Amino acid sequence: MSVLLNGKELAMEIRLKLKEKVEKEKLSPMLAVILCGDDEASKVYVRNKSKACDEVGIKFEEYLLPNETTQEELLELIDKLNNDEKVDGILLQSPIPAGLNIQEAFARISPEKDVDGFNPYNVGKLTIGEDGFVPCTPYGIMKIFEKYNIDLEGKKAVIVGRSNIVGKPMAQCLLSKNATVTICHSKTKDLKEELKDADVIVAAVGKRAIITADMVKEGAVIIDVGMNRNDEGKLCGDVDFDGVSKKASYITPVPGGVGPMTIAMLMNNVVKAHELRHMKRD
Ligand code: NAP
Repeated sequence: MSVLLNGKELAMEIRLKLKEKVEKEKLSPMLAVILCGDDEASKVYVRNKSKACDEVGIKFEEYLLPNETTQEELLELIDKLNNDEKVDGILLQSPIPAGLNIQEAFARISPEKDVDGFNPYNVGKLTIGEDGFVPCTPYGIMKIFEKYNIDLEGKKAVIVGRSNIVGKPMAQCLLSKNATVTICHSKTKDLKEELKDADVIVAAVGKRAIITADMVKEGAVIIDVGMNRNDEGKLCGDVDFDGVSKKASYITPVPGGVGPMTIAMLMNNVVKAHELRHMKRD
């Protein structure tokens, strides 16, 4: 039976440390979140981020834009927040309504306020191994490896999913720790073959139980990023937890694994943005 990688507990630890830091150093970080359109799941994510901000002592401002928002209006709001001295971090919740260009919007967010790490400048920094803002989900996963002393050097890591927000930055993070990295996607010919001798698997697909016990080697470390609903409407991941946890050495649960760490690292990035901006000014 595998060891459960308890992201919920680690996230609480990180948030508590941040709260202590904010209080002790009398910091006044602020996060501005743009929610454009009426995606129901996004509203829940934003609410969770708002609660976490409250807990840590980060001021939270929400900007609600209707479905009919134009690209110009969205960019105008980003410009306004870029120029607002009080705002340390800007987060544009995805998805945004069809017809709007999210990449252009991410690129418009000032790199020093880009707490999601999606601006091409920060993407580039991660790629060349320089300090910048690392996207919160892969960053949170790296903190889990660190907490549980999971050594990645020379390990064969296979990521399933190549999105800009999870799969690709995850590959850079694993490379930076000297893992040998493979990225699979929907056009991968034989997923089972790619996974069969992986020491570490990161599943970020969005398809329930796409990773089953027969695909995983004995002792593998399994990170499940997926957030899906089962037939009873309960949250579940991309990994068939019951089967895979019997073979894995370590495994993240869903819920309680990667999800809470994503939010904790967002809090971390906002506090970091605040400190960096103020250091520059002093
Ligand atoms: P995404 O943008 O939809 O990307 C999904 C990836 O999976 C794509 O690269 C796609 O390949 C690949 N894929 C689809 N079917 C596949 C298959 N049969 N075999 C192999 N690869 C396949 O999704 P995302 O934003 O990265 O999110 C992935 C999942 O993680 C979702 O469930 C999302 O809700 C969850 N998520 C969780 C957190 C968290 O904090 N826990 C954060 C972010 C996302 P192509 O590129 O070829 O289409």
